[in-house]
Amino acid sequence: MNHVDTVASPSASDAALGSVTQAERDQLVADVEAYCQEIRPIEEICYLEHEPNPAIGDLAKKHNLLGMAMPKEYGGRAMDSLTYARALVRINREGTGVRTFFSGHTSIGQYPILKYGTEEQKQRYLPASCRGDCTLAFGLTEPDAGSNPLEGTSTYRREGDKFILNGVKYLISNGSIADAVIVFAFPEGVTGKDRRMSAFIVDTAGDTFEAEALHAKPGMYTTDTAMFEMTDHPISGDNMLGEEGGGFRIAMHTLVSGRLSVASGCLGTIEDCLEESLRYARERVQHGKPIGKHQLVQAHIARIEMMRSTSDALVERAALAKEKSDLAPGDKEELARADFAIAEAKYWASNAAWEAVDRAVQIFGGRGWSELYRPFRHLQDVRVCRIYEGTDEIMQLKIASSLLGKDFAAFG
Ligand SMILES: Cc1cc2nc3c(=O)[nH]c(=O)nc-3n(C[C@H](O)[C@H](O)[C@H](O)COP(=O)(O)OP(=O)(O)OC[C@H]3O[C@@H](n4cnc5c(N)ncnc54)[C@H](O)[C@@H]3O)c2cc1C
Repeated sequence: MNHVDTVASPSASDAALGSVTQAERDQLVADVEAYCQEIRPIEEICYLEHEPNPAIGDLAKKHNLLGMAMPKEYGGRAMDSLTYARALVRINREGTGVRTFFSGHTSIGQYPILKYGTEEQKQRYLPASCRGDCTLAFGLTEPDAGSNPLEGTSTYRREGDKFILNGVKYLISNGSIADAVIVFAFPEGVTGKDRRMSAFIVDTAGDTFEAEALHAKPGMYTTDTAMFEMTDHPISGDNMLGEEGGGFRIAMHTLVSGRLSVASGCLGTIEDCLEESLRYARERVQHGKPIGKHQLVQAHIARIEMMRSTSDALVERAALAKEKSDLAPGDKEELARADFAIAEAKYWASNAAWEAVDRAVQIFGGRGWSELYRPFRHLQDVRVCRIYEGTDEIMQLKIASSLLGKDFAAFG
């Protein structure tokens, strides 16, 4: 199906948005701004020391930002997708790592529980996670299963009133700080067409769940990326998420939400690079005038602005498409439109951000090659956005096969 003409356009009215009032949205914007201003000096020190920043979560709790996109009945602030996306744009100006914490917790942590959880599961996990008493994560990737999660080897079996899980999950945001992780696993000992993935809400307490933070990464020093191993790890028999065998669908649907977070974050990176570049180009004097008066520096600024404005349009269109899809649960057409629009936004914005950080680094000259300055920190952080939640290549396959038709899907 061709979704190009049918996704919500940026000029679509607020009709697609949720039920919050403008005053509530304005309050969220103010709270996000206060959060960002408070986190900045702490984040800068932690980043330069390559240390985790516990204030990312603590201040989010203080400013009531841990359930931005969750319904009020579960303790959230019920923000529509566009308002939430804009909040992530602003938060990501403080660093891709800071935004990634929110993505792991809300976009891919709370979201699948809201969409697929039983009422009892929602009551158990959503209010606690909105309050800041239960950090969440999403565990799909394994050492031998990334772009194709169906090559995963994590397993589950039933034992009495419990599920027992085994396996290793790799490169998981919030993976060593989470109290509960959405985990995907296959039935133990089952092969062939009955080998279908299921989703679980896995409480991480206990010595059968061992997590280890991964430190060999460039950038995103202040937030957690981890691997964890489950060794006969018991969880409640009530903690399967959705139907048995329905895990792949849940994973793919959740990634649509996660990719919008990545695209929004990349727009935040570009905005910050633009602001920093404008300031520096006005202040820095070489050859007797501010470097902003040199036309080749202006060319960099013009390109960063083009990356910003095009990404902004695609992120807005994608957020509106997701909102429409969320308001029409079970509507496969709306979900396909959102999936398509978000894949475009994620692919474009992450590449646009990569160009923008490179140009901002260039404008900063030698200072551009230093963690002391924001452009280089963004450069280190943002590269992963072309990889996680679906690589550049997977996004292109998704976009092209959506236009060509399902007979052209590059993989099942
Ligand atoms: C910092 C960070 C945080 C992360 N957070 C999470 C998280 O919270 N939860 C989670 O589950 N995962 C997370 N991931 C994992 C991430 O989603 C995967 O790394 C990503 O999906 C790619 O998988 P892979 O690394 O196994 O690469 P592979 O799948 O091995 O891909 C390697 C290369 O082959 C290409 N490729 C693969 N298949 C095809 C194909 N069919 N056609 C064309 N090219 C192809 C890829 O595009 C890529 O270029 C995170 C990763 C990082 C680095």
